[in-house]
Amino acid sequence: MVIDPVCKKEVDEKAAPGGKARFWGKVFFFCAPKCRASFQRDPQKYVPEDEGEKEPGYDPRMFLGDM
Ligand SMILES: [Zn+2]
Repeated sequence: MVIDPVCKKEVDEKAAPGGKARFWGKVFFFCAPKCRASFQRDPQKYVPEDEGEKEPGYDPRMFLGDM
């Protein structure tokens, strides 16, 4: 199980109802499409700064795609 970064619920990463999104090279799983949409709108709100290094040339569009 992994933790949905938006609502902090446990999500089964093999069958995440909300799908997944990649951010800063990490993959996050969501309990509902609503949570994923919130995350994609403002991912930095849900990922602590120290968990993700901003890469040179950081581009917010990088993480908007689904896997
Ligand atoms: Zn959620």
